[in-house]
Amino acid sequence: PPQQEPQDPSKKTIVVLGSGWAATSLLKSIDTSEYNVVVISPHNYFLFTPLLPSVTVGTLDGRSIVQPTRHTTRFKAREVKVYEAEAEYVDPVNKTVTFSDKSEIQGASRKVTIPYDYLVYTVGTENQTFGIEGVKKHACFLKELNDAEKIRARLIDCVETAALKDQPEEEIDRLLHMVVVGGGPTGIEYAAELRDFVESDLIRWYPEVADKLRVTLIEALPNILPMFSQTLIKYTESTFKENSIDILTKHMVKDVDDTHVLVKTPSGEDKKIPYGLLVWAAGNTARPLTRQLMAALPEAQKNRRGLEVDDHMRLKGAENSIFALGDATATQFAPTAQAASQQGAYLGRVFNQLARLDVLETKLEAAKRDGASESEIRGIERQVEKAAKVRPFKYSHQGSLAYIGSEKAIADIPLLGENSIASGGVVTFMFWRSAYVSMLFSLRNRSLVATDWLKVSLFGRDVSRE
Ligand code: FAD
Ligand code: NAD
Repeated sequence: PPQQEPQDPSKKTIVVLGSGWAATSLLKSIDTSEYNVVVISPHNYFLFTPLLPSVTVGTLDGRSIVQPTRHTTRFKAREVKVYEAEAEYVDPVNKTVTFSDKSEIQGASRKVTIPYDYLVYTVGTENQTFGIEGVKKHACFLKELNDAEKIRARLIDCVETAALKDQPEEEIDRLLHMVVVGGGPTGIEYAAELRDFVESDLIRWYPEVADKLRVTLIEALPNILPMFSQTLIKYTESTFKENSIDILTKHMVKDVDDTHVLVKTPSGEDKKIPYGLLVWAAGNTARPLTRQLMAALPEAQKNRRGLEVDDHMRLKGAENSIFALGDATATQFAPTAQAASQQGAYLGRVFNQLARLDVLETKLEAAKRDGASESEIRGIERQVEKAAKVRPFKYSHQGSLAYIGSEKAIADIPLLGENSIASGGVVTFMFWRSAYVSMLFSLRNRSLVATDWLKVSLFGRDVSRE
């Protein structure tokens, strides 16, 4: 495809791939006066993932937790180009990226290649399925906005189908068995929201079937939530027990068909578990685009977990032109929104510093050319030296929070040194809610989320579906 010219050829071009946590945080912190900035993402919005589990049962409306990327970029110093498209190929040698419009409506321009001076690679990950064919075909994931909406529609469908006249008992049991695979925070938070929905709404609107709905969470490891302390793991397990959520640890899902999952039990036997709705929250893996980028830099990129970066978030093998942030990277930091957003904000500051450096270097050249005094030149040189010192990325862990249902949350908040506050319960839930409301980027999103919470507390969740 033909190459397109950047907006202002005299300025360096930064191409950002993705519009998630890392990219959005970068876009907020970067000063675009000195750069052409182009954002490419198949989603033209930022998704606030911590509240996504609430969308699966209608506690929140999906639209309340997304922010159009153009809302983030519209007040920047210079225009930021935002393209709703999918990056398909990165050429780290010739420094170009090729992207395509994969949406339903297509025009004459579908595939474009543009050059970059700097590429910011923040495309996240895709769902890990371990090559089990049935997962993609029959299970629901919980990563994107439409995943959560699909779960909600299927959940209500299961309930309506179970409530249908003459439905046999055995079929009702299967349809109302909600199975969650993965005891990481995604699986736990989803199971928690589901239980809330059953307790507060299903019982009211579907009394004939509500008490037959069962939730089972399957985890291959001996423990759920490995990133939390033992106290909070125990607290979550006992809360789930009170809420009749069955946790099957040391059970590994090996296969999935349209009505059953096949698990290996702790004694090594195979067991078939029937389900109506299956949510697959078994972790993440690198996207094909990331694997392709790794293959293009075979000497430097050998980690199967993700992209290797140095302590300045520069991609190993392409240190001068590519930065990689967030879940797409393999670092010592957990793949969280917290780490990705700190990396995005850091890189924004780095670009601002590099722009200052460029300006100072030009000033220095001009001063030398125009015969400025020794002391004036020395002064600018000192400023150049200072601006050239780019500090490495430093992660500051603010703690881990998770919602566990019945208006209870758990929090592991680090204090000075090794100590941390491990708390669980209703007060932690209030903290969880206020923390998320304050983290939501815009006043618009804060108001929408608060209004949704109010609506649910007044009228309950909506059980209609498309
Ligand atoms: P993402 O936010 O995933 O963004 C990736 C972006 O790349 C997206 O905009 C996507 O559209 C785009 N993209 C994909 N393919 C392409 C392509 N080919 N070309 C261009 N763009 C592309 N973390 C926490 O710290 N706290 C939490 O409470 C929390 N809760 C979570 C709840 C859920 C349900 C989930 C799924 C995750 C949660 N996380 C949480 C993890 C957090 O969401 C991720 O760590 C974070 O999103 C990583 O940010 P990122 O920018 O690397 O990737
Ligand atoms: P995860 O990788 O943390 O957990 C996946 C779980 O699935 C693992 O415990 C794994 O043992 C299990 N599993 C994998 N294959 C299995 C199989 N075949 N059968 C049974 N169990 C299987 O994934 P996640 O929960 O999606 O979290 C991803 C990242 O996002 C993590 O870094 C997490 O910290 C972050 N996150 C944070 C929050 C929060 O802080 N509240 C919420 C969601 C996600």
